Amino acid sequence: MNASLKKWLGEKQGEICVSHLIKHRFDAHFVQNVRQATELIVKMAAAYETFGFGGSATLDQIGIKDILRDMGKTLYDHNQEDLPMETRLEYRKKQGDCDCFMASANALSLTGEIVNIDGIGNRVNAMTFGPSKVIVVAGVNKIAPDVDAAIRRIKEIAAPMRAKSLNADTPCALTGRCTDCNSPMRICSVTSIMHRKPMLTDMSVIVVNEDLGF
Ligand code: SF4
Repeated sequence: MNASLKKWLGEKQGEICVSHLIKHRFDAHFVQNVRQATELIVKMAAAYETFGFGGSATLDQIGIKDILRDMGKTLYDHNQEDLPMETRLEYRKKQGDCDCFMASANALSLTGEIVNIDGIGNRVNAMTFGPSKVIVVAGVNKIAPDVDAAIRRIKEIAAPMRAKSLNADTPCALTGRCTDCNSPMRICSVTSIMHRKPMLTDMSVIVVNEDLGF
């Protein structure tokens, strides 16, 4: 697709999505690029000391963990290399009680819902209740027309790519197609649809006019 047309379409869809998220009481923002997203995240994060993260290619692409480390913040990042299993588990538990939890979304609907599917559930757990602040960052590639299309997007695109990136022992990681498997490594066991901002959670959503994550 022509780059300037893609940017134009991303802006139109991003702005509609953000307007519906705001109606749904999320603190939602549309930004044009990763640089603007990073500036906004750093401003939001400055007041907090402990940070948790959902597994997220988007956050890795943005490089926000290194920025927070350089700011002297404490990070509970279970995806760090060479962590013992018990530390990974401990960090997942701490994510539910950290000051600020960051994640992407598997999909956003144009109609203003946030849709995620987890294998373990620590991400959707921390996103909905516990941390003082939750920041969700998503590229416009995550926007689907409605909730049904958002779930379809996850099953057809996000989950197979995530499973492949994790070398998960699942059918989709081999074939690229979801078979609604019963694998013990199934990464799609818990579906979360945030129809409105969770009542007791201060949640910001940053929609970036770039393709981020999958
Ligand atoms: S094959 Fe299994 S792990 Fe892969 S997308 Fe389908 S349900 Fe999820």
